[in-house]
Amino acid sequence: MVLDKEESVSLVSLQSREKPRGCAGCNGKIRDRFMLQALDRYWHEDCLKCACCDCHLGRMGSTLYTRANLILCRRDYLRLFGVTGNCAACSKMIPAFEMVMRARDNVYHLDCFACQLCRQRFCVGDKFFLKNNMILCQLDYEGGNILMTINYRPRQLL
Ligand SMILES: [Zn+2]
Ligand SMILES: [Zn+2]
Ligand SMILES: [Zn+2]
Ligand SMILES: [Zn+2]
Repeated sequence: MVLDKEESVSLVSLQSREKPRGCAGCNGKIRDRFMLQALDRYWHEDCLKCACCDCHLGRMGSTLYTRANLILCRRDYLRLFGVTGNCAACSKMIPAFEMVMRARDNVYHLDCFACQLCRQRFCVGDKFFLKNNMILCQLDYEGGNILMTINYRPRQLL
């Protein structure tokens, strides 16, 4: 079974005449008045927890996410399996758990965040410039060579 989806959690009440159901978390019988229903199974309110942060998914009142047999809250699911966006330099996807560099609306892999002319990397405190969506170091920005090239032969760069 491939599990990779968003599921809603609902609180259901046990009808007094019904037989107690088994909890999918601890395998014990559910004798509480309320139980949770999710993933087509029943759970104690305390047994439906996020595999990462242990938060109670029933009390979050909402949705759970499953992937590779893990049950996760939305926050952890996005942290582990979500996507931050596409790197503005190499245009590959950046998974949400990776550290990224941000410049204006752009995100970059750490490795991709370098001057796109001389490949110089930046340290904390270094100045960088964004020109035509390219990251430039101060030298290349002020030298202005790339701007002349772009203005000179615009078609070839498209
Ligand atoms: Zn249980
Ligand atoms: Zn969590
Ligand atoms: Zn990249
Ligand atoms: Zn440079």
